[in-house]
Amino acid sequence: MSNGLTNGERLAYLAAMGIDVFAMRARPAGEGQAVAATADAGPAVTEVALLDWSGLERRVASCTRCELHRTRTQTVFGIGNRQAEWMVIGEAPGAEEDRRGEPFVGRAGRLLDEMLRAVGLSRDTVFITNILKCRPPGNRDPAQGEAAACRRYLERQIELLSPRLILAVGRIAAQQLLGTEAPVGRLRGRLHHLTQAEIPVIVTYHPAYLLRSPTQKRKAWEDLCLARRAATRVA
Ligand code: URA
Repeated sequence: MSNGLTNGERLAYLAAMGIDVFAMRARPAGEGQAVAATADAGPAVTEVALLDWSGLERRVASCTRCELHRTRTQTVFGIGNRQAEWMVIGEAPGAEEDRRGEPFVGRAGRLLDEMLRAVGLSRDTVFITNILKCRPPGNRDPAQGEAAACRRYLERQIELLSPRLILAVGRIAAQQLLGTEAPVGRLRGRLHHLTQAEIPVIVTYHPAYLLRSPTQKRKAWEDLCLARRAATRVA
């Protein structure tokens, strides 16, 4: 190691500086194999924990931690206000997002914009990102190993933004953030917290699902109202 410190010493040094270093959640044996060669929780954890917004964005843009870098057009880091109170987290870029480098730009994205507008917000006043920063081919679900490889980037984004509220849209985002396999129907409608940071998390349906099941929009509206109440609650 170039600075002569062991990893443990570096972590202690960071802790003394008041810099939190998120640890990857433990995974059951067998998970994460798709990225086993590159997704170790070694020294790079510390490096990501030190990055500012632009450093993090550059790091994500050059990431090769999982196989998705081979098929992406570009990474999709996230968009919006880097001092936003709301952070919206989706699943992964689709084809259009991969082409444009921006999350939620297709039909589902337009519905997300409408949902945000309904509670007085916009793409410019929140920060929008995904669990994965690269598109899974064929828009398949993210593999557990891919989510693990990307997780430290998302954690650093959360740390830098320090939002008053996280809105998890869809099953993948909700399950990954909350470390559960419960369905959205059981997770929505109540307040959760991120374990590391005590940040309120509200789960709602993914706009792509709402496009297929418009009768559920009413529940999504209730979730947004709950999110607004949670975000304005005095800490
Ligand atoms: N669906 C997502 O979850 N994220 C996007 O960026 C686009 C579609």
